[in-house]
Amino acid sequence: MATILDGNRIASEIKEEIAVGIKQLAKEGIRPGLAAVLTGNDPASEVYVRSKVRACEELGIYSEKITPADCISTDEMLTVIARLNEREDIDGILVQLPLPPQIDAKRVLLGVLPQKDVDGFHPLNVGNLSTQRPGLTPCTPAGIIEILKRSEIEIAGRSAVVLGRSDIVGKPIAMMLLNQNATVTVCHSRTVDLPAYTRTADILVAAIGKAALVTPEMVKPGATVIDVGINRVMDKKRIEEFFPNDSKRLDQFAAKGSTLVGDVHPRVAEVAGAITPVPGGVGPLTIAMLMSNTVKAARMRRGLA
Ligand code: NDP
Repeated sequence: MATILDGNRIASEIKEEIAVGIKQLAKEGIRPGLAAVLTGNDPASEVYVRSKVRACEELGIYSEKITPADCISTDEMLTVIARLNEREDIDGILVQLPLPPQIDAKRVLLGVLPQKDVDGFHPLNVGNLSTQRPGLTPCTPAGIIEILKRSEIEIAGRSAVVLGRSDIVGKPIAMMLLNQNATVTVCHSRTVDLPAYTRTADILVAAIGKAALVTPEMVKPGATVIDVGINRVMDKKRIEEFFPNDSKRLDQFAAKGSTLVGDVHPRVAEVAGAITPVPGGVGPLTIAMLMSNTVKAARMRRGLA
């Protein structure tokens, strides 16, 4: 059976390190501040923003939730962002995605000052990552690199296969693995014969948003498997097939009517060398890295980095 890469434990370790950094800044009279802009009524986004605000409170980071009306226009949203760009007490601005359909998300993300872009989505930060310059990098991919490094999984010289090419996860994790000297292949919905690629992976990152798509036959024995997917499954038959002997999971499903499943089938744990669970794998790291980026932004803006 694969070693379970415990994201909660690694995230706690990182948060302890961040807390030390925050104490050092406090001595200089600096308190990092994060503004979360949440619009629309996506229940998952509300849960994510609540978790991010709670993490700020735990660490002593100032946080502010801004909730513009759902009908806000792109220009009005840009005005909200411009005000946050100007505020001295705000070091990080996160715009929770997805945005309502009337908003041009690309224009909004471009409006965030790159120095305050704690999600690492601004083209300037994307360019910094691809040219290996200092900057703010996207949280989920940065968290994956922390999992690999802190679990002493060799990256350099290994074959890494990334499933998914989104701007949020797939592309930046591919770039980060490349920067760490892996040989990287990126697959997507138009890839022909996906298993032919996945079976070559020493490190397989699945970020596609399709429950249990990666099956044991697709994985090289002993590979490290990073499961980024978060899929809410409500079909009892599928849950019984995914977790036949997991009474805790089946009880949870019976009580709630749904459960979270990654992009990787749970039976992959029988083949892989190491694997991240869902939940409790990559998710906690995403929040830890957002906190880390907020402190980094606070330092960088003041020339302390
Ligand atoms: P997107 O929907 O933006 O991208 C999905 C990618 O997967 C696309 O590139 C798509 O290809 C590819 N894809 C879809 N179906 C297939 C398939 N059958 N075979 C191969 N590739 C396929 O998703 P995100 O990157 O934003 O998120 C991916 C997953 O990760 C989601 O479940 C999301 O909830 C989760 N997530 C988890 C986070 C965490 O903190 N744990 C943070 C962010 C996301 P194409 O480009 O061709 O359409």
